[in-house]
Amino acid sequence: MPLLEVCGVTKAFGRLMALRGVDLTVGENEFHGLIGPNGSGKSTLLKCVAGAELPTKGTIRFARRDITAEAPAQRARAGLSLKFQITSVLPALTVYDNVLLALQARNPISSLIFSRTRGTLHERVMHVLEQFRLVERSTERAAALSHGQQQWLEIAMALACEPRLLLLDEPTAGMSFEERRVTGELLIALKDRCSLVIVEHDLDFIRSICDRLTVLDQGNVVDCGTVSDIQSSAKVREVYLTR
Ligand code: ADP
Ligand code: MG
Repeated sequence: MPLLEVCGVTKAFGRLMALRGVDLTVGENEFHGLIGPNGSGKSTLLKCVAGAELPTKGTIRFARRDITAEAPAQRARAGLSLKFQITSVLPALTVYDNVLLALQARNPISSLIFSRTRGTLHERVMHVLEQFRLVERSTERAAALSHGQQQWLEIAMALACEPRLLLLDEPTAGMSFEERRVTGELLIALKDRCSLVIVEHDLDFIRSICDRLTVLDQGNVVDCGTVSDIQSSAKVREVYLTR
């Protein structure tokens, strides 16, 4: 039974069809890449899964539950966490407070106070800051971080809630080659803790971390399979060669 099951999801913005009957399944601990030309519907699909947009048609099941009509906060409590394409870091707050706020905003306060297994709020914040190499910067304002470090901070914010499925929309955009390499390492280290759906343009990066890929074009799934299936897919080659 997959962790995430997207069935026939269509999303219309007025007359524009951003998604046309998309199917997607993601298993436990699977790292799934979402690729496709600009405007193919990748961000819209992630938003439909996280609840930031509601599908016009189709169903979304997560952890055996139909979440199609659930509010984003309900989905977050069930273990879904999205890092948007557009930054949500608050630059005037410290690195520490950004993570603390994310943790508080996405969890009912009672579950944080009474959670014995997950440690104190402080421990949880420090734990994700450690994972993303940000402990030494924790008291600085987020605005003082490099672009790459701000992206790590956002991933840390999404991870603080210990999601079962992490959704990342172009996390390496604008990063240097070295920052990208480190991001790959940081994500691979999460492999036994959660599943991942990641939108990325850098195919080498996606190949190095993903188990399977889905290729979108104009709101349709062109192909889905292992990295080597997709590399040899004539349908995928056609999309990339003709755009
Ligand atoms: P991608 O992330 O693959 O570049 P998007 O999912 O952002 O693509 O967009 C898919 C299509 O939907 C595009 O044509 C885009 O202009 C359109 N779109 C996305 N969000 C909205 C919106 N809120 N209102 C109207 N059109 C939108
Ligand atoms: Mg996008």
